[in-house]
Amino acid sequence: MELIHDTGWAAPPATVEQPLTGDIDCDVVVIGGGGGGMSAAIRLAEKGVDVVLLEAQTLGWGASSRNAGYITNSVAADPELLGFLLKRERLRDLYRYAENAVHFAEDAITHYGIDCGYQQEGIVMAAVSKGQLRHARRNAKVMAEAGSAAEFVEGPAAGLPDGFVGGVREGVGGTLNPGEFVLGLRAATIASGVRVYERTPARDVTDSGDGVTVDTPDGRVRARKALLTTNANSNGLSIAPKNLASPVWTSLVETEPVAPERLDAIGWTSRAPMVTLHMIIESYRVTPRGTIVFGTRRVQTGRNPLPNRTPARNVTDDLVRGFHDRFPGLRDVKLQQSWGGWIGMSSTWLPVAGEASDNVLYSLACNGHGFAQAQYVGHLLADRVGGAPLHDDLAAIWHGRKRFWPSFVSGPALHAAWLADRASDRLAALTN
Ligand SMILES: Cc1cc2nc3c(=O)[nH]c(=O)nc-3n(C[C@H](O)[C@H](O)[C@H](O)COP(=O)(O)OP(=O)(O)OC[C@H]3O[C@@H](n4cnc5c(N)ncnc54)[C@H](O)[C@@H]3O)c2cc1C
Repeated sequence: MELIHDTGWAAPPATVEQPLTGDIDCDVVVIGGGGGGMSAAIRLAEKGVDVVLLEAQTLGWGASSRNAGYITNSVAADPELLGFLLKRERLRDLYRYAENAVHFAEDAITHYGIDCGYQQEGIVMAAVSKGQLRHARRNAKVMAEAGSAAEFVEGPAAGLPDGFVGGVREGVGGTLNPGEFVLGLRAATIASGVRVYERTPARDVTDSGDGVTVDTPDGRVRARKALLTTNANSNGLSIAPKNLASPVWTSLVETEPVAPERLDAIGWTSRAPMVTLHMIIESYRVTPRGTIVFGTRRVQTGRNPLPNRTPARNVTDDLVRGFHDRFPGLRDVKLQQSWGGWIGMSSTWLPVAGEASDNVLYSLACNGHGFAQAQYVGHLLADRVGGAPLHDDLAAIWHGRKRFWPSFVSGPALHAAWLADRASDRLAALTN
């Protein structure tokens, strides 16, 4: 299996937009061109705002092109726990926000005519043990009460692979090829009139109160306002709120193509994309190219400046072990490639947006469920920076200018969660 540095979903863009050289002025500068930054910049351009978008590599290079490709109405944290900790109204707001984010991303695919293999098939939070199935039943109840499109499914009728006993089927969303999607969104961004500078990392962002200055290696941008959409890399910028997000490296593995009859034979007749109900999820999906992509389980923390790295061997070994345990009938399937990416993980595992200073707004921690959400938040932040009232969906994740407590997302804590998941697997093997 080849360990690769870039996304395995698509080739990089054929040409690169010019880097910034010299000093320029604009109304709004967007820093970080993932799905969030591109959506924000497009929205600003639509409104006639003079907008500059700075991207350290090429647009979409980060998590947005590397993820597992689930468009989900789930927020990252466990629904049952959220139901216990949050007021009912707040939970409803969060799930409404997440569902609207799904529709926003779907609309982008249609609006820009992006060919990215989108399958609107929903996603199953799948149980691999009786304990997880009971948890799924409770999660479905919490989500339904919060107004989220979700139903409990169980038994062979669910069409899940042998060993997956049921779960919560999300009623909206589905899967796509994120690499192809961001190439389409990148083309739409460039065509929209946004002034795009690639290979242009922001080194320093300062807010003087009456404007923002962004220093880059060979130039400087002066703007009235700025949006910070740099995701996991944000801690490298002193203006980013302290303790908001910890960088967490997440890995994926892709198999060779698997014949459809073999998927039928193991019971995966629905082909539903799945995430398990472990503390740190496992994900398994079939791709439009007939392969299976699976991932997460064992994640690792990092420090800025974050390296452009490949997955670690012990992590891919663990992922493959998980794949073989869950799909014993596919043990002979060859593995093609593995890649990963950095996500910005908040302490609560909930998405956050807010104000870093008078003139700098941020969206930095969409966690492992931010593919659609980062885009939607970027769009809403663009309206907000133009002076619009706080949209109800932005209010659902709005942190304002408040500080953050030190994060408990750490290497040892994540390792402990992985150990707890493996212990629950062993217990399930004994009792199922
Ligand atoms: C392996 C993996 C699997 C995932 N699976 C899913 C999934 O299935 N579904 C889901 O919803 N979410 C998933 N996620 C999370 C999701 O991809 C992210 O939450 C989302 O893409 C974040 O988008 P973004 O625009 O905020 O950040 P990014 O896409 O990371 O974009 C940030 C951009 O900012 C640029 N940048 C950083 N620093 C600077 C700087 N100083 N100056 C200029 N540019 C800078 C980076 O180069 C990058 O392009 C996954 C993530 C990973 C890594």
